[in-house]
Amino acid sequence: MERREVVIVGAGPGGSIAAALLKRRGRDVLVLEAQKFPRFSIGESLLAHCLDFVEEAGMLDAVEAAGFQYKNGAAFVRDGQYGEFDFADKSAVGRNSTFQVQRAKFDKLLADEAQSQGVEIRYEVRVTHVDIGGDSPRVRAKDASGAEYEIETRFILDASGFGRTLPKLLNLETPSAFPVRNALFTHIADNTSAGDFDRNKIHVMVHPRHRDIWFWLIPFPEQRSSIGVVGSKEFLASRTGTPDERLQRLVHEEPFLHRLLANSQWDTPARELSGYAANVNSMHGKGYALLGNAAEFLDPVFSSGVTIAMRSASMAAKVLDRQLNGATVNWETEFEKPLRRGVDTFRAYVRGWYDGRFQEVMFAKVEAPEIKRMICSILAGYAWDETNPFVKDPERRLNAIVQLVRQNAAATPSSATAQ
Ligand SMILES: Cc1cc2nc3c(=O)[nH]c(=O)nc-3n(C[C@H](O)[C@H](O)[C@H](O)COP(=O)(O)OP(=O)(O)OC[C@H]3O[C@@H](n4cnc5c(N)ncnc54)[C@H](O)[C@@H]3O)c2cc1C
Repeated sequence: MERREVVIVGAGPGGSIAAALLKRRGRDVLVLEAQKFPRFSIGESLLAHCLDFVEEAGMLDAVEAAGFQYKNGAAFVRDGQYGEFDFADKSAVGRNSTFQVQRAKFDKLLADEAQSQGVEIRYEVRVTHVDIGGDSPRVRAKDASGAEYEIETRFILDASGFGRTLPKLLNLETPSAFPVRNALFTHIADNTSAGDFDRNKIHVMVHPRHRDIWFWLIPFPEQRSSIGVVGSKEFLASRTGTPDERLQRLVHEEPFLHRLLANSQWDTPARELSGYAANVNSMHGKGYALLGNAAEFLDPVFSSGVTIAMRSASMAAKVLDRQLNGATVNWETEFEKPLRRGVDTFRAYVRGWYDGRFQEVMFAKVEAPEIKRMICSILAGYAWDETNPFVKDPERRLNAIVQLVRQNAAATPSSATAQ
């Protein structure tokens, strides 16, 4: 039977970064990827912090040279109010910019970079079973011809994203605390003119009548954009027609997008994803750990998914390398707990977004630049920086700033609009 030191399931950003980081530490790494690359994936707006891991994995030059759309922040639109965050105006020490990427190209680039560093990736090979009962974990894989084979390994990292391979095979899944939401999305030729909107920012628009329904517009180069809407399954189903017709109908209900996309060409079939929020009862066990979405996925509103996947890859690679060197490691205190710290930061603001508190803050005219800088740090991905009070105690800080906004609005009712 084939024996490999580390087997990684999935060659998305989490898998490629983990593979390269382990290889750079001299580890023997085999990545098994079910699909052929390039392949479509959603999750196109990166946060600044994720480039820290791209750099750590020795891939930054390649990513910077690839011609992706520069991104320096996020803009939020509701009822004609416009609030923007520029990553340069954040409190944390860190990067001021990142990219918006077509994931087919981005993920292939990272995987190719990992391969050029010596990582072996087998495409069109699906992991179908794992056995963690013996002394060494075993992985069963099936290739494109249908042939199956087993590999013995010292450790499995599951980076299979929404495939959630180990959570399903080992019965680790628990329901997410968030209600089931759907996303409907596509790529378009936006055909906007220079100056129509800031292409260096993801735009998040709130539906004019439903505060829990929101749209994303993620610009790419050459006047192309990713456009999508997120809402309850029932709400998205309430607009009839094909997925393309429903998406276009919904987009034209939002005045900012209606105006901006007047000349757009809808040239790519829309896709729909349902119930993507997920969780697990543990991110690690004997002989394995879960990275990125294979463990937990919250919600797309703050574009945190790829950053969490890469951060988990970086943390896991360090703990695993020490374990393989013979050290006694504690995956709970060295991996899961510190990783969940930042995930919980995002969780608090996602909750606040949907219950309206965070939107109140974003669209309020409160002159508090210091607070805005701290919030901006989180939006740039620095959600693990405990020197930031909005990371250390997100619920209490969010409630305090909501109180401030409400007091301000009560004192000067006409000024409670736009930042
Ligand atoms: C609607 C929506 C919008 C989003 N927008 C953003 C955004 O703007 N920014 C952002 O950062 N994130 C966003 N995300 C999240 C983002 O998509 C994910 O967090 C990110 O892709 C996770 O990366 P990953 O490496 O963990 O997994 P993935 O990128 O999903 O890669 C997993 C890989 O594993 C492979 N695989 C699966 N099962 C198996 C198996 N059994 N055997 C072998 N291989 C397998 C798959 O083929 C796949 O290539 C969004 C998510 C949704 C649902």
